Amino acid sequence: MSEQKGDLALIGLAVMGQNLILNMNDHGFTVVAFNRTVSKVEEFLSNEAKGTKVIGAKSMEDMVAHLKKPRRVMLLVKAGQAVDDFINKLVPLLEKGDIIIDGGNSEYTDTNRRCKELHAKGLLYVGSGVSGGEDGARYGPSLMPGGSEAAWPHIKNIFQSIAAKSDNEPCCDWVGPEGAGHFVKMVHNGIEYGDMQLICESYHVMKDVLGMNQEEMAQVFDDWNKSELDSFLIEITRDILKFKDANGKYLLEQIRDTAGQKGTGKWTAIASLEYGVPVTLIGEAVFSRCLSALQSERVHASTQLKGPDAPKFSGDRKAFIDNIKQALYASKIVSYAQGFMLMRETAKELGWKLNFGGVALMWRGGCIIRSRFLGNIKHAFDKHPDLSNLLLDDFFKTEIQRCQAAWRNVVSTAVLHGIPTPAFSTALAFYDGYRSARLPANLLQAQRDYFGAHTYELLDKPGTFIHTNWTGHG
Ligand code: NAP
Repeated sequence: MSEQKGDLALIGLAVMGQNLILNMNDHGFTVVAFNRTVSKVEEFLSNEAKGTKVIGAKSMEDMVAHLKKPRRVMLLVKAGQAVDDFINKLVPLLEKGDIIIDGGNSEYTDTNRRCKELHAKGLLYVGSGVSGGEDGARYGPSLMPGGSEAAWPHIKNIFQSIAAKSDNEPCCDWVGPEGAGHFVKMVHNGIEYGDMQLICESYHVMKDVLGMNQEEMAQVFDDWNKSELDSFLIEITRDILKFKDANGKYLLEQIRDTAGQKGTGKWTAIASLEYGVPVTLIGEAVFSRCLSALQSERVHASTQLKGPDAPKFSGDRKAFIDNIKQALYASKIVSYAQGFMLMRETAKELGWKLNFGGVALMWRGGCIIRSRFLGNIKHAFDKHPDLSNLLLDDFFKTEIQRCQAAWRNVVSTAVLHGIPTPAFSTALAFYDGYRSARLPANLLQAQRDYFGAHTYELLDKPGTFIHTNWTGHG
C-alpha cells in the first residue's frame, strides 16, 4: 500500500465525480477515487487523471484504508437507491466521527432521513447541493452543504477551495441542518426553471408580437447582459440565438419544442404545495414544460382552436423591447421573492436556521442562475437578515415600481395577441395579490360555510368562528 494518505475519497466516476476530483487535485488535495464498476477507476487514472496525485482504489476496503482520519467519503452517484446502497456498504468500514457526503441531486427528505440514521450510528452526514454542471464541477461549482454541522470544520477548507469565487468570496458556506443543503439546491433548480421560462417568454413575445429575427434578438440579449439582467442564462441565450449549423442555418429553429425535465423543479412545486407557500412562478414554469411536451395534441389543437385576430403591432418597437426587459426583471424579482418565501417557511416548519444572505452568495457565482441580481439579494439580506419578503426591501420595492407599467403593458399585449406568458402573468397576479389588503376570500369562506359548514371568522370578532344557515331552512 502506498504511504500517501488521501484527504477525501470520492465514489462515482461519471462526469461530475471525475471533474470534482480533478478540481480538488488542482487545489492540492489528494483524492482517492472509486466507482461501482471498478474498471472505470483504472481508465480514469490512465486518462483524465494521468499525471495527478489521485489514488485509485481497488475496493471500498482499499479506499477506506487510504484515508486520513476522520475519513471523508463523498458520493457522486445517481440519486436514489444507489446512495443508500453505498451508505450501507460504507457504514461497517467507517468509525465514529467519520464523514459521508452526498453531492448528488438527492431529495432533501432522503437526506433528512439519512442524516438521522447515520447520526444514530455515530457518523456525520452531509448532503451538499452541487451546481454549475460539468464545467462548474471542474473549475468552480456553487456548493451548498448541510447536515451534521460537526462535519463542517473538517470539509470547509476543501469545499471553499474548490468552489467558485464571487468578489473573492467562495460560493460555498454552511447552509443548515439535515437536508437543508439539498433543499436549498432544489429551490435553486426551481428558480432556474423560472428564469429559463421567463427568458423563453421574452423570446416568444419578441418573435411573435414584434416579428424580430434571431440576429436582432441576439443583439437585445447582448444589451440586456450589460444591464441589471447580467447573468449566465441571458448570456447563453444570446449565443444560442446566434448559433448556425454547418449549413449556415440557425440551429434553434430546428429544435423540437418539447421540454424535458429531471424532477427538481417539480419537487420545488410539490414542496410549495406541502408548506402552503404560493411559489406560483416555478409552478407555471414546470407546467409550461408539461404543456410543451403535449406536442402532438398541440399540433392537432392548433388546427381546431382559434385565437384572437392578432392585431399587427403598431407601437414603438424599441420602447416595447424595453418593456419586455422590465417585465422579465420584475417577474424575476417576484420569482426569487417566492423562492425565499418557501425557504423561510420550510426552515420555520423544520426548525432550521438558514442564512439567506449566505444562500444568495452561494448562488452568486458558479451555478446556472449566477447573476449580478443575486448580489442585490445578498445586499438586501445583509442589511436586514430578518427581512420577511424580498419585495419589501427598499431596492426591490423601487425596482418593481419602476417596471410596473411596462410589465402590465407586456402581459396585456401578449394576451391580446394570444401569446402565452404564464410566468410573466402569474408573477404579476402574485404581485397584485400580495399587495392587496383585501382579497375576495371572504366570499370563498362564505361558500365553504354554505355547503360544508366550515365556519367563517367575522372581521370585528377575530378568533370567533361561526356558522350560518345560509338557506334559512332547518
Ligand atoms: P450519473 O449518471 O447521475 O451517475 C453515474 C454514477 O452513478 C456512476 O458512477 C455509476 O456507476 C453510479 N451508479 C449508477 N447507478 C448505480 C447503482 N445502482 N449503484 C451504484 N452506483 C450507481 O452521474 P453524473 O451526471 O456525474 O451525476 C452524479 C450526481 O450529481 C447525480 O446525483 C446528479 O443528479 C448530480 N448532478 C449532476 C449534474 C450534471 O450536470 N450532470 C449537476 C449537478 C448535480 P457505474 O459507473 O458503475 O455505472
